[in-house]
Amino acid sequence: MNHDDLRHWSKRAADWTHEYHTSLRDRPVRAQTRPGDIAAHLPEAAPEQPEPMATIFEDFARIVPDGMTHWQHPRFFAYFPGNAAPASMLAEQLANSMAAQAMLWQTSPAATEMETVMIGWLRDALGLAPHFTGTIHDTATIATLSAVLTMRERALSWTGNTQGLTDQPRLRVYASTQVHSSIDKAIRIAGIGQDNLVRIPTDEHHAMDTAALDAAIRADLAAGYRPAGVILCVGGTGIGACDRLQDAIPVARSHGLTTHVDAAWAGSAMICPEFRGLWAGIDGADSIVFNPHKWLGIQMDCSIQLLADPVPQVRTLGLRPDYLETLGQSEITNYNEWTVPLGRRFRALKIWFTLRAYGLEGLRRRIRNHVAWSQELAAAMAALPGVEIITPPNLSLFSFALKAGDVATEVLLTRINDDGRVYLTQTRHQDRFVIRVQVGQFDCTREDVMTVHQVTRELLSG
Ligand SMILES: *Cc1c(COP(=O)(O)O)cnc(C)c1O
Repeated sequence: MNHDDLRHWSKRAADWTHEYHTSLRDRPVRAQTRPGDIAAHLPEAAPEQPEPMATIFEDFARIVPDGMTHWQHPRFFAYFPGNAAPASMLAEQLANSMAAQAMLWQTSPAATEMETVMIGWLRDALGLAPHFTGTIHDTATIATLSAVLTMRERALSWTGNTQGLTDQPRLRVYASTQVHSSIDKAIRIAGIGQDNLVRIPTDEHHAMDTAALDAAIRADLAAGYRPAGVILCVGGTGIGACDRLQDAIPVARSHGLTTHVDAAWAGSAMICPEFRGLWAGIDGADSIVFNPHKWLGIQMDCSIQLLADPVPQVRTLGLRPDYLETLGQSEITNYNEWTVPLGRRFRALKIWFTLRAYGLEGLRRRIRNHVAWSQELAAAMAALPGVEIITPPNLSLFSFALKAGDVATEVLLTRINDDGRVYLTQTRHQDRFVIRVQVGQFDCTREDVMTVHQVTRELLSG
């Protein structure tokens, strides 16, 4: 295959893409395959001789789509949808066409400079203070890892990277019981150790109890530990819990601790001024992560970390061996020094395309609809016999269960997903098995959202 063939097959792929997306509603949302079904279609070894693209493409169309859970399906209400608005898919195709490696300014000046400008656009769109700068990561997990590594180095006066963690003071990091497992993973990978992630209890609104935070830090100091940082959430994954930043950040600061805020899905909603009360106090944070690949519709992968001051993170993650120097340009921004991987893709392009193609007003309208439809759906679900709303909508996420208990709720969830018209997932809340409903798919309509009610009603009465 050469570039003339690529032109032909790209057009074929564009036609396939159109056909796929315009018929998505006819497919079950969650893959209906069994483990091993797809692998059984694939030969055990790579071919020795080239095969014609026509055959490869045919096999793709025959085998792959039926083996997928359709993340761009408008009735995807599981996890948080990983969106891909058409304009962002187009930008991604163009970035793929150039296939650049944007590790240094010099290796992709447009990618670097557009990244800086896009970070500014997003910061202002979220209503954040002008001192924030930032960078683009692949996922929130890696953004949080970067923040935790920085926390560690700051607390160890920059000696962890050079001397290792043996014989160092034992660090402590604080988070509520509502934070995502990516926080646990970062603590583990950073060498801080899971046992040193101190879980602070939550209050009746599922926000971190800040008096308990203060007490835990004091107790650790008295016991000879070295507190390093506090990780807060705005829109937890389970039920959408929000810590009260305006109370928690001052406590962290009073002890000289670094703060990182995980707003992976809910952060995008802050383009709507009316939701910003949920993160009042955010301008005091040292680091914030949110994923435009969730609620802003920008194709996976696109995670933004905003930093009050990038210097500590660059000091933690940046390395400039001779072969990465840009001769005569020592003051240039090289974003690899802000992140864990050296290599980086040109992700800013899809932000640029998406923000321009829909406008902030177009994106706000979607988010506002999702929040309103989620409330309407929760009210309708509450009226179904035997159904109980466990947590009311936090933005566009609510949870419900059957009064009959965990087993009945789990059976209902399996039946809903086997039905295929909608896709929902579960969490545990206060020791109960609950079904989450998360509205956030870029193209969903009110009717798509209300299908959750229709399917549940049919299954409960059938
Ligand atoms: C989705 C999510 C994450 C993980 O995001 P990745 O980008 O997949 O690493 C972390 N925290 C919260 C609150 C999330 O919603």
